[in-house]
Amino acid sequence: MCGIVGVSNFDRAAETAYLGLYALQHRGQEATGIAAVDGGRATLHKAHGLVMDGFDEESLSQLDGRVAIGHTRYSTAGGKGLENAQPIMVRYHQGDLVLVHNGNLTNAQTVREELVREGALFQSSVDSEVIVHLIARSRMSTPDEQIHDALSQLVGAFCVIISVGDTLYGARDPWGFRPLVLGRKGDGYVFASETCALDLIGAELLEEVSPGEIIKIENGRLTSLPRLAPAGEVAPCIFELVYFARPDSKVWGVSVDRARRAFGRQLARENPVQADCVFSVPDSSNSAALGYAEESGIPYELGLIRNHYVGRTFIHPTQAGRDFRVRIKYNAVREVIDGQRVVVVDDSLVRGTTSRGLIALIREAGAREVHFRVASPPVVSPCYYGIDMPTREELIGAQKSVEEIRAHLNVDSLGYLSRDGMTDAVREYGPFCDACFGGHYAAPLVDLERHLPVSSHC
Ligand code: AMP
Repeated sequence: MCGIVGVSNFDRAAETAYLGLYALQHRGQEATGIAAVDGGRATLHKAHGLVMDGFDEESLSQLDGRVAIGHTRYSTAGGKGLENAQPIMVRYHQGDLVLVHNGNLTNAQTVREELVREGALFQSSVDSEVIVHLIARSRMSTPDEQIHDALSQLVGAFCVIISVGDTLYGARDPWGFRPLVLGRKGDGYVFASETCALDLIGAELLEEVSPGEIIKIENGRLTSLPRLAPAGEVAPCIFELVYFARPDSKVWGVSVDRARRAFGRQLARENPVQADCVFSVPDSSNSAALGYAEESGIPYELGLIRNHYVGRTFIHPTQAGRDFRVRIKYNAVREVIDGQRVVVVDDSLVRGTTSRGLIALIREAGAREVHFRVASPPVVSPCYYGIDMPTREELIGAQKSVEEIRAHLNVDSLGYLSRDGMTDAVREYGPFCDACFGGHYAAPLVDLERHLPVSSHC
């Protein structure tokens, strides 16, 4: 997964994009970059790591212009070199072109093979680079038409922000897998993955870019290009609400906090238990645990504390025991847990490794009973649309029954939110893609079906 931002018509636009990236840090911590455009010429700065480490006053001051585009990259299976970080910047026949992309294309390798056959030279291994080639090679005559032509050939998940010269474009794939919003501040416009970026910039939300929509901003004027052909289904990702997005954002028209609380309340209705306290695995399940506590009437406590300064800790191999990584990140509050029957709410169970380590911690802190509640259904299928998830073999929900998972985690009881319960809690904002919970893939998995390596960048 990644975070993207694009701003137009701002003095020192790169500084505004930088603020936006700061708010989108949770969407990617591996690398970051900003390109700014001044009089049609783009300049770019990319760096490994967090936004706060990747930029300083000097690097930002070199990014002149009233248009800027930024990206935070999630760690993935793909190459970690800076050539795979974004924005991608190229100088093509219509001017400097900059692109950022959130999502995963499912036909990137197929398109890439074709482009390579035609003589295209690729500089990175990320799927997003095919988009730039498709734009540059389009036989259409204007950048508007070339962008439309290129995006029409893509299958899978893409929210893109593109600049050609000083013109900015924001677009979403026809399935609408990933979020992208448009905001305004004075005469300036902002595209961003989530509304929390608009809040930090001080921009008001105008609209969510709709599936298949391409919005263009030129000289402070907003227009829409012809829409991309509709897909068979509209399928925004429900996992954004479950785990990925920030609770202070509005995604798919609903407050992420409210959605998670609704999941937590429904979880409590479906999986009640007698207990002394409820707590979350901070921070991603805070809202869901609050919902569970509200519905069940069991007091909400802070039983686990997360160290926010972990980063990429070096762990000596001799210390790298099974639970050590979990212990570096979390500690249990003995005063809350000792002698108590506790309900632990987590947002999702993917591999099960984190939870297993956490339960060991909670037991050591003296819990009398541990009841584990998951505010989403079992994850049974990998995501090919941008959430970085392990293969089916590594997904505990795909390999074991609920009872086997309960025993594996060493808990007294285990309860998941049902699929219907999850969908019903946010039904008025759907329909959604819930491929990870159900295995139905709305957009064809073109590369996978051809046994090509599945590209993954964010
Ligand atoms: P585990 O079951 O050990 O794989 O860890 C699951 C926890 O990791 C969940 O409770 C989430 O908070 C978090 N999580 C869920 N999905 C992802 C993901 N795609 N990448 C990183 N963390 C995730």
